Parts: sequence; C-alpha cells; structure tokens
Amino acid sequence: VPAARPVSLRPEHRPAAGAERPRVTVLAGPTAVGKGTVSQFIREHYPQVWLSVSATTRKPRPNEREGQHYFFVESDHFDELVSQDQMLEWAVVHGVNRYGTRRDTVQRALDDGQHVLLEIDLQGARQVRQAMPEATFVFLAPPNWDELVHRLVGRGTESPEEQRRRLETARMELAAEPEFDAVVVNDTVERAAQELVRIMGLDPDDHL
Ligand code: 5GP
Repeated sequence: VPAARPVSLRPEHRPAAGAERPRVTVLAGPTAVGKGTVSQFIREHYPQVWLSVSATTRKPRPNEREGQHYFFVESDHFDELVSQDQMLEWAVVHGVNRYGTRRDTVQRALDDGQHVLLEIDLQGARQVRQAMPEATFVFLAPPNWDELVHRLVGRGTESPEEQRRRLETARMELAAEPEFDAVVVNDTVERAAQELVRIMGLDPDDHL
C-alpha cells in the first residue's frame, strides 16, 4: 500500500453541489484498519449521519454495549432474521461469527431522510452493491501493511490464532480496493472521518 494516495471518486458518485438527497454509504476495508474507530468518531461528532448498528453472533468485548456497538444475538435468532429475509446483507467474518445489517432499520432511516452509513466487511459491501448499486462504496486503507499488523496485534483482544486468521483475511481484503468508488487512508481518525463525511456529501466542518 503506498504511503498516501489522493481520494478518487468516480464522477457519477461525486456529490453535486448542494445535493442533499438521502443516500447510503458503505465503509469497508481490511480488518483492524480502524473502521470501528472512524465510525465511533462519526457517531460522536456527526449526529447528522445515521450509523447502522449491526447484529452479530459474536460475544461482546468488555467495553461494548448492546445496541450501541452491536445487537448481540444468539445463533438461532440470527438464523431467523436471515430466513425471514430481514437482512440487507450478512456474512461470516473471520470464519467464525456472523454479522449483518437489518433491512428495515436502514429503510426507516432512509425514509426519514437520513444519511446512512454502514460499516461492514467486504463480503457485505458486495451484497449491498447488488441490492443498492446507487450506494457509495468507500474503502478505508491503512497507511501501510506494517501499520495494519501493528494495529491488529496491538489491540490485544484476539488470540494469536485469531490474529493470524484476521491478517490472512486482511491481505485478501486489501486486494479489493479497486472495486471501490473512493479510498480514504486512515492516517489519523479525525482526518479520515472528515474525508468520509465529505464523500457523503455533508459538510465536514459541521460537527459537534
Ligand atoms: P469485530 O468483531 O472486530 O467487531 O468486527 C469484525 C468485522 O465484522 C469488521 O470487519 C466489521 O467491519 C465487520 N462487520 C461488522 N458489522 C457487520 C455487518 O453488519 N455486516 C458485515 N458484513 N460485516 C460486519
């Protein structure tokens, strides 16, 4: 991964001046790149962005709150949501747990005129592209590979085996960058969040 790249937007996705139409933006990128941190920053500073809360079968980490970071559900319940076609997208991430976005909550936010942000993995992003080709797809990239490894190992929340599995996934995910409409390098959380907000067609200076 090069040290720094300009953000490239396909012309059809460049927000028109003054455009305020509700839209869906998908933020994806390799594991441990900081998608969660960037979304957390957006949650705290940009209330005009409606950040989707995913359902997951993963157990909560010590700092995580039900309904804020995720809706933590049992496997059976997740099965039900899928079989009732209530998921806009869902995926098994890192070979273990399932994560998904509920269709009805996203639709309600769009109906309310909100700017919707989904922070999901690459498999989920591809499903959303099938379902909503008009959405904007943003790839959050690490400044470089070593930084990505450092962030994953430094987080200390995963076992060595889980870390290996996630790095393997990250390598594959990095190769998907050209599929995206825009690339944002996560050099600092604040700058990356501002760039994302600008891509969403909102004013990055309009924040809490
Ligand atoms: P973590 O377990 O570290 O919270 O998240 C693991 C991965 O799951 C991250 O790459 C995150 O983007 C992804 N993820 C979180 N929510 C969803 C979701 O609703 N759908 C999909 N496809 N991936 C998700």
